This record gives sequence, C-alpha cells and structure tokens, in this order.
Amino acid sequence: MKLIHKFKSLNFDKRVNKKISYIILHYTALPTIDDSLNFLCKTENKVSCHYIISQNGIIYNLVNEKNRAWHAGQSNWLAEKDLNSASIGIELDFSPNHNNNKFSKLLMSSLIVLTQRLIKKYKINKKNILGHSDIAPYRKIDPGKHFPWKKLYQLNLAYYPKTKNILKLKKIRIWFKKNKIYSNEQKILIMLNIIGYDISKAINNKYYYRILLKSYRNHFFQKDNLKNSNLKLINVIELHFYNLLLTKV
Ligand SMILES: [Zn+2]
Repeated sequence: MKLIHKFKSLNFDKRVNKKISYIILHYTALPTIDDSLNFLCKTENKVSCHYIISQNGIIYNLVNEKNRAWHAGQSNWLAEKDLNSASIGIELDFSPNHNNNKFSKLLMSSLIVLTQRLIKKYKINKKNILGHSDIAPYRKIDPGKHFPWKKLYQLNLAYYPKTKNILKLKKIRIWFKKNKIYSNEQKILIMLNIIGYDISKAINNKYYYRILLKSYRNHFFQKDNLKNSNLKLINVIELHFYNLLLTKV
C-alpha cells in the first residue's frame, strides 16, 4: 500500500465535537485520478475527502483525519445529521462512464488495508461503513451497484444482514400485525428508517420511494450475495431489521 501526502486540499474545517464513528465510501465519476486530485484540491469546488484511492492502488491523503473534510454534503443516518464531522471520507477513482469503470484488484486491496486501519484506530462499528447513497439516497448513487460490498463483508469490514435463519421472519410479521401495520410499503419504510435511512421524502411519494429502495438494493441486496437464495428484497430488509432489533436490546 503506497500512501502519498503530496496533494493537499484546503477544503475542510474543524470537526464539531464529534467522534469519528463512520467511514463513507464514494466514487469520483471523473475519468482519471489526476482529474479527481485537481477537482478535490481546487478551493472553489468546496469539496474534498480524507483519502482517494487510484485504480493502481495508490492512496492519496488530501485532508488530515482530525479535520472535517467536505464529502457527504446534506445527509443523514439515524440521528446523525453532520456526517462530515463524524466520518472519514474515502473517494474511489471510479466512473461508470469512463475507462476507470472497474473496481480494480489493486484499488480494492488498498481500500481493504485502509479500512482495516481506520476501523481499528477509531473503533468504528462495521454497521457504520456506508456508501454516500445510504446517507443521501435522494441525491447520490455512489459507490453504486457494482461496488463489491461482498469483499468487505467477507473480511468483516462491513455489515450484512444474516440471511440464514428465515424462521425469524415470522416474529417480525407478528410484530407488524400487533402494531397494525399491514402494507408492505409501510413496513419497508418503518424498517428502513430504524435501520438508519432518511425516509422523509419517500413517505407518500412513489418516485422517491423507488429511489430509496434502489439505494438499499445497491448496498444490501446485491445479486452476488444472494446467489442460492429465494429471498426477496422485503425479506432481506426484514432480516436486517430483526438483526438490528436483537443487537440493540
Ligand atoms: Zn459521493
């Protein structure tokens, strides 16, 4: 893993009394690492990140970890509304529309080493390793449906709902019935809200509801993880929700 400190971004300010408890993953959507370094270091763009990883696995540190980089924008997760203050932002040199349209092996192995180091240093809960699309689902789609979350789950560097015990679904259904919540849409919104998503725009709005589901799907319902399973999207959300209820009590 090669770490370069040569490029610095002045687009940062002070963290507001916040402990670092999240890692937010992004992609740049720009054609080359040079374009991205330029963009993230230009003062007038008012954006930055702590780290950016190139296709050949070089990690550039643009903002000191102790400072608040500007990568999340308007976003929220659970009760947290200032994700920039509470997180380390990592950009990946990836664009779905240019030649850097693969999450290369070198890029991923550097991301893995960096994530391991940050999780250990700040004791970050793996449930708080999130994509930009999780914390800003109506504005952002990165790191996108092709980001290999599975690699992070397998190394225990990110959370994935345990899908083995399908019998547990019964308990969730009884809980909903008791609380007189009958429609799938209502159930999904409640569960996604408790998981952490901002559901405000999706209530009574089909368009935003679909966008919210897409954000969830791109992170937690990737085909790769569900090869031999008949689980539907709602089942995975139910299991996710059930696992969270168990670990919160
Ligand atoms: Zn982003």
